[in-house]
Amino acid sequence: MKFSDIPGMETEKKKLVAFVQQDRLPHALLIHGPEGSAKLALALAFSSYLMCENPQDGQACGECLACLKTFKLIHPDIHYFFPLSGKDNKCDECMPDWRRAVLENPYLTAPHWQEIIAKENKLLNISADECRIMVKKLSLTIYEGKYRILLIWLPEYLGTQGNILLKLIEEPPANSLILLVTESVQSLIATIVSRCQTLAIPRFTDENIKVTLSKFGLKDDLLITNIARTAEGNMYEAIRMGSDQTNPHSEQMIRWLRLCFKNKANELISWCEDFATEGRDTHRQFLKYGLNFLDQILRYKVTGQEISGFNPDEWKGIKGLSTQLEIEDIRLMSELFNDHIVYIERNANPKILFSALSLNIHQLFSKQKVHQFRLI
Ligand SMILES: [Zn+2]
Repeated sequence: MKFSDIPGMETEKKKLVAFVQQDRLPHALLIHGPEGSAKLALALAFSSYLMCENPQDGQACGECLACLKTFKLIHPDIHYFFPLSGKDNKCDECMPDWRRAVLENPYLTAPHWQEIIAKENKLLNISADECRIMVKKLSLTIYEGKYRILLIWLPEYLGTQGNILLKLIEEPPANSLILLVTESVQSLIATIVSRCQTLAIPRFTDENIKVTLSKFGLKDDLLITNIARTAEGNMYEAIRMGSDQTNPHSEQMIRWLRLCFKNKANELISWCEDFATEGRDTHRQFLKYGLNFLDQILRYKVTGQEISGFNPDEWKGIKGLSTQLEIEDIRLMSELFNDHIVYIERNANPKILFSALSLNIHQLFSKQKVHQFRLI
C-alpha cells in the first residue's frame, strides 16, 4: 500500500519518509496508536516505500516488481509476525488468513483478529518458538530487496517472551529494520521500548473517516456522518459499518432497550442468549454505539433540536426514550455501559453480562434502585 492510500497523517508520513531521505533509518521502530488507527497501514506503506525500486515524491511507485509484491504482502524480504491462539499455531501457516484480513481492511484490530483466528475465545499470544523463528529469519540473506524487514504486529502479546528478542532488537544484522506495531506500549516490556525509536499515531478524525467512506462509494451523507461519529476514530469499525451500508447496531439497540423497558422476561432471555453468540468485539461495539445513542438522547432532551446523522427509526427511539429517561438515568445508564465494556474486555461471560445489564436497565426504566452485579 502507498502512503497516499491512508487519509490524513501527513506529519507521521513525513517523519517516516525523512528517516530514509536523511539517511537515519533506525534499526527498530515502534509505531503505536489506538485501536483502528493508521499504525499498521503506515508500517505497510513504509515497507513498500523502503523496498520500492523507484520511489517518487515520498511515495512507493506502485508499479515496480517490489511494489507489486509488497502490496500483496508476499515480498520475500519482509517477514510478518502476529499473535495467534494456542502454542502450536505458526505465523507461516496462518499467513493466508492474516494476509486476507489485512488486505481487506489494513486497520485491522486485535479484537477482530481474535474473532477470525481464535473462535473458541482462546487468548492470543506470540510464542517463544515464534521469537526464535524471528531471529532465524532476520539472519537470512536478503533475496531481492534493499532491506530485510521484520514486522511484528501487536508485540504486546509477546509477554516476557520478548526477552528472546532483546539482542536482535539492539543489534539487528546490517540493512535490517524491525517494525513493531502496537496498540499498547504500556503492555510491552520496558527493555524492548527503550531499544526502539518510537512514532505515535493519533486517532483518525471524523473527516478522515468520511473521506475514506466516500472513496468506498458510500453516498448517503447522513449515514456517513452517523458512522464517523459512532466509530470514534476507529477506521476498522467505520469501514465495517460502511460495507454493511448501515449502522449494524441501531436496530438491535432499539429492540433490546424496548425489551428492557417492557421487561418481557422470556424474550429478553432469548435475546441475551442469541446476542451472546456474537463475538466480543461486536459486544463492545454495540455498547459503544449505545453510548453515542445515549449522548444523542441527552442532547435532544436538553436542546430539543434534532441532530443529523440518524435514520428515522433511530430518531423515533431517541425521541421516545428522551421522555422516559431523566438526565440522571442517562448518566447512570452511560456508566453501566462503560463498566460493561470493561467487563467484556476482561472476558466476562457474555450471557451473564447482558442478562445482568438488561436487569439493571429495566430497574432504571421502572425507577427502581439499580443493583449492579460484579461480574469480574
Ligand atoms: Zn515501486
